[in-house]
Amino acid sequence: MLEITPYGEVTRYDLGRNFFGRGYYWTTCYRVDGLLIDSGCANVAEEFSQALRDIELQRIVNTHTHEDHIGANGRLQTERPGLLISAHPEALPVLADPRRQQPLHPYRRLFWGWPTPCQAQPLADGEIIAAGDLRLRVIYTPGHSPDHICLYEEQRGWLFTGDLFVGGRDRALRAGYDIWQIIESLKKIAEYPVTTLFPGSARVRQEPQAELRAKIDYLEDLGQKVLALQRQGRSMAQIERALLGGPMWVEVVTLGHFSRRHLLRSFLGESSQ
Ligand SMILES: [Zn+2]
Repeated sequence: MLEITPYGEVTRYDLGRNFFGRGYYWTTCYRVDGLLIDSGCANVAEEFSQALRDIELQRIVNTHTHEDHIGANGRLQTERPGLLISAHPEALPVLADPRRQQPLHPYRRLFWGWPTPCQAQPLADGEIIAAGDLRLRVIYTPGHSPDHICLYEEQRGWLFTGDLFVGGRDRALRAGYDIWQIIESLKKIAEYPVTTLFPGSARVRQEPQAELRAKIDYLEDLGQKVLALQRQGRSMAQIERALLGGPMWVEVVTLGHFSRRHLLRSFLGESSQ
């Protein structure tokens, strides 16, 4: 299922899994001139490719390699030989062989599907990418994944944040994310003068500074509270109850892969996969 929304010079594509005529598990891509920022999920790749058939694409840039952001890479590159695909250097092995490099849990296969392989080129932090007359700067923003980047267009004040910022007050985190790195990356992007923020899902924001600051403050405050309770000798279950509330639906659907416990572990510096 695909919805297309114009935002002036930016076109937004929302891709969702179709179950009985309704869309679920949406993910978002954007196009600026011939530049596509992310390519959605494999389950909707055919429909997405159809929607782009009259568009002259010059390049795809992936904000990171989660399967709901790279799903149509392989299809679009096969259909358009020579289509340039770029991503952070750590993303390249995953893009070349997603099945081997990024095994998917059942819920991820069901919601988004297996991406197909593609050939991609590395992007450097600070590199400038052309999109028509516009210029987008690569900002390395790890934490949500080690290969995450954002893109900033200085003339317009646009910021494309992938999954680094999608709003909300997190009570859960997926295994493998680094919450302290996420906070540092949010601080990095909060320094830019942004007029419009285009997230990898959720709504587009105008003048997002206050919301970015609020998110940073919330996460830092939560992290300090987690560490304080741990110093007091509280158990993980006690900290969870005190700070993060009751069970969440996402914990059931993902069989615990996305959970309050992983958020706590990340704050405590314990890695989890
Ligand atoms: Zn992601």
